[in-house]
Amino acid sequence: MNHLSTDVLIIGSGGAGLRAAIEARQQGVDVLLISKDKAGYSCCTAASMGSFRVSWEDNNIEEHFQETLDAGRYLNNANLVNILVNEAGPAIRELEKFGVYLRIEKEKASLVAPKQPAGATLARILANQAKNLGVEVVEKAYAFNLLAEDRKCHGALALKSDTGEIIKISAKATVLATGGFAGLYLRNDNPSGITGDGIILAFQSGAELQDLEFIQFLPKFIDAGVPRVPILDWLIEATKNLVPGGPLINKKGERFLGKYNLLSQNILRDSLIVAIEKEISEENEGEDFVRYDLRELSPAEIEKACDSEFQKRLVRYLSKGFSSKLLPVASSAHYTMGGIKINEKCETAVRGLYAAGEVTGGIHGANRLGGNALTEILVFGKIAGREAAEYAKNSSLKITNDKNSEATLMIIREFINNRKEKIPSSRVKRDTKIIVSKFLKPLRSEERLLSALEELRKIEEQIPHIFVKSSKELQEAIESKFMVLLAKLVVMSALVRKESRGSHFRTDYPQRYDKNWLKNIVIKEKNGTPQVSIEKNLLRTFRAQKS
Ligand SMILES: Cc1cc2nc3c(=O)[nH]c(=O)nc-3n(C[C@H](O)[C@H](O)[C@H](O)COP(=O)(O)OP(=O)(O)OC[C@H]3O[C@@H](n4cnc5c(N)ncnc54)[C@H](O)[C@@H]3O)c2cc1C
Repeated sequence: MNHLSTDVLIIGSGGAGLRAAIEARQQGVDVLLISKDKAGYSCCTAASMGSFRVSWEDNNIEEHFQETLDAGRYLNNANLVNILVNEAGPAIRELEKFGVYLRIEKEKASLVAPKQPAGATLARILANQAKNLGVEVVEKAYAFNLLAEDRKCHGALALKSDTGEIIKISAKATVLATGGFAGLYLRNDNPSGITGDGIILAFQSGAELQDLEFIQFLPKFIDAGVPRVPILDWLIEATKNLVPGGPLINKKGERFLGKYNLLSQNILRDSLIVAIEKEISEENEGEDFVRYDLRELSPAEIEKACDSEFQKRLVRYLSKGFSSKLLPVASSAHYTMGGIKINEKCETAVRGLYAAGEVTGGIHGANRLGGNALTEILVFGKIAGREAAEYAKNSSLKITNDKNSEATLMIIREFINNRKEKIPSSRVKRDTKIIVSKFLKPLRSEERLLSALEELRKIEEQIPHIFVKSSKELQEAIESKFMVLLAKLVVMSALVRKESRGSHFRTDYPQRYDKNWLKNIVIKEKNGTPQVSIEKNLLRTFRAQKS
């Protein structure tokens, strides 16, 4: 086993991890960043459209705060939202110092990039900036275990997927920035590999998780003949009043947006998905998609309705794929609001372990406002880097005895040993995704959630029979094990929340119950099993303040 040591270890090379690495390095400590893939590639940051929500004027900060809470259905951590809205402007402006070009608009900023997705340009620039500052980068290094003892983190174990080598990285402070878990679904718009590893790593080392039941879906064209456009909500918003009743129709040909009061107000993402899913389950006679109806709309009309040059360009590009006049649309997992519970310093419940970006929970509550994720990774990536560096400066390096590492390595070696029954890890992954996609849709019920748990238990039984032949398959085996556990934790949270709020819609509890449910569901590991608790959200007493 190769042994490396550093002051601050960053796990993940999307925007949050890279921003944390840059900040920690600027604080004068040694920084080592590891990433499953090439730094700045295969991450949601690189796949993103490059739009940031921000308020430039002091008097609009309160509005940004309120909109974030309204979208989050009041389950957000108000202290974190306050930091987000106050730090957004400076954090975005700082990008210009790194060489990022921005288009500044009234309540947002957009990346100016030579091609789409614009986020790829951001990720590459941040990766180069980190390297130029002296951040040591180890690519194709898969973190599969945190070196944690007594709720204190001392680094991580990683598998080099290209060589099969195991690296032990001792670190004074560790930052998890591994992104969300939309990759648990068959239909999702995230790069492959975004399956929630960091959430399980944190959970297994004693950190708390929160709000896992809230998963953001977005409508997506599912016709292979249509150019791939990850996000469709803005198109529906832009065109909703061009045809009476709006552009979406169910199988019976009925225009349904009005039925859900979505024509007269700005459409929130969760409300749109609930409308689409209800039409599919109640009005569609077995067809699992609705349609975007172009029969009375031309690409030129759509382009005219778009409010930014970027959207117009996208419609021009899209219109090449408008071969049919009825384009199938279904929901696709996009973003996960829940994750590792952090405080204002990005600290987790484990000392020396920090987290930032989509891997965390709390900022977005039950539903994320568009543009807030990219803003979040800059604001909280920077805080995590700064705080981790500060912690490292005041700590000494502890080289853990290898009991913990040895136990983990034993589990790994077992995957490699010959098994009687040989199950490929890809099968476990696929089966998990099938169950999650079938039973953990935006519309849920106790019956379906219990079926999910039952099916996931069956999949879990296959894990000891996974057989691997290469280091890539070994990584996949560990990923699949994490995916099954994470799926179970999500189902457990969804079962506990007996109401409908934001992206979590219970057909058996269709109302929002503020009286009982202005609460967050928190999960942590105790004696090897998940313990669920329900914590009161403190939002009601909070007002945004200029910091
Ligand atoms: C198609 C699309 C468009 C979007 N557009 C926008 C937008 O315009 N505006 C907006 O606000 N938001 C947008 N989002 C959301 C936003 O892009 C993400 O929430 C954000 O980029 C997440 O950043 P992150 O750094 O937390 O995670 P990511 O960028 O996903 O990075 C995670 C990193 O962790 C690494 N990793 C994971 N597990 C491990 C492991 N075990 N070991 C080592 N490394 C690991 C991954 O390889 C990756 O490098 C979009 C998302 C998508 C998918």
